[in-house]
Amino acid sequence: MSAIPLLAAPLVQRLRDNIGQRAAILRQKGCQPQLAIVDATGDAASATYAKMKLRQADKLGISASLYGIAPYSPDTRDSFLELLENLGHDPKVHGIFIERPMPEELELSDWLKLLPPHKDIEGIHPVNLGKLFLDSPTLPSVFVPTTALACLEMLKFYKVPLAGAHAVVVGRSITVGRPLAWMLLQANATVTICHSRTDGLAKHTREADILISATGCRNLISADHVKSSSVVIDVGTSYNEDGSVCGDVQYESVAAKAHMITPHIGGLGPVTTALLLHNAVRAAEMAFAGVSL
Ligand code: NAP
Repeated sequence: MSAIPLLAAPLVQRLRDNIGQRAAILRQKGCQPQLAIVDATGDAASATYAKMKLRQADKLGISASLYGIAPYSPDTRDSFLELLENLGHDPKVHGIFIERPMPEELELSDWLKLLPPHKDIEGIHPVNLGKLFLDSPTLPSVFVPTTALACLEMLKFYKVPLAGAHAVVVGRSITVGRPLAWMLLQANATVTICHSRTDGLAKHTREADILISATGCRNLISADHVKSSSVVIDVGTSYNEDGSVCGDVQYESVAAKAHMITPHIGGLGPVTTALLLHNAVRAAEMAFAGVSL
């Protein structure tokens, strides 16, 4: 039997309709939502993703600009930090998105402090992450990490029960794996987190009702890592030697066994992008209403 594909398209359409309407309302009030995308990766795939975001923002009435700092060299470090600081202070810019993976010279902790939390549409600033982890209804996060949220939204859209389910998250990065595990916990799943030092990965993943892999480790998850009733979300984006897109999950063999699965193309990525644009409009709404953090 072949797994049910968890396709982004219907969820993304719903999100885009909402974003477009809200952007139009803001424009009618004289506020043009504005997004800045900064690409210092020097990476062809990131440049493609950045252009895709520009096109989609444009279609939804969000004005987006791309600031490319590539090829990156240690000499350009200062210009990157200066650019980020300027964008942070620019009142016309409502949301800022930094393409990743960043060059090694630019530690996350170096530049995150220059990103104002109310412009952090990816939800990775310590203020936003701190509020998420505090779990307090009186201090709700302004922006929650979009990739993690995309996984939750996908599961909700396809009516996958979370409460009581055993969710296994492979990957523990600050921006994806950890917030994702926490959000699954908040949704009352029982959560196991695996990482590169986990002994016997398959032993853990085979127990998963919901398996989410976010490692960037190409084809890590095989049919041997899943049980037949599992719902599998592949966050990883990698490339085969011939340049074709792949992920953490060996799609064909896992799809032949699992219950539900995200495809490599048209799976999680478009939901994450739509949520970023949703947050860009939210950032503009907050700025227009004078809401500060
Ligand atoms: P990251 O910071 O490099 O973290 C990777 C995590 O995977 C680490 O926790 C690492 O463990 C773990 N890992 C690596 N190899 C492993 C292995 N063999 N077995 C088990 N765990 C392993 O990456 P990230 O930023 O979280 O991104 C992960 C992937 O998601 C990347 O492919 C990225 O391109 C993709 N991504 C996709 C979207 C989307 O919307 N689709 C959005 C963001 C990111 P240690 O902690 O032990 O090193």
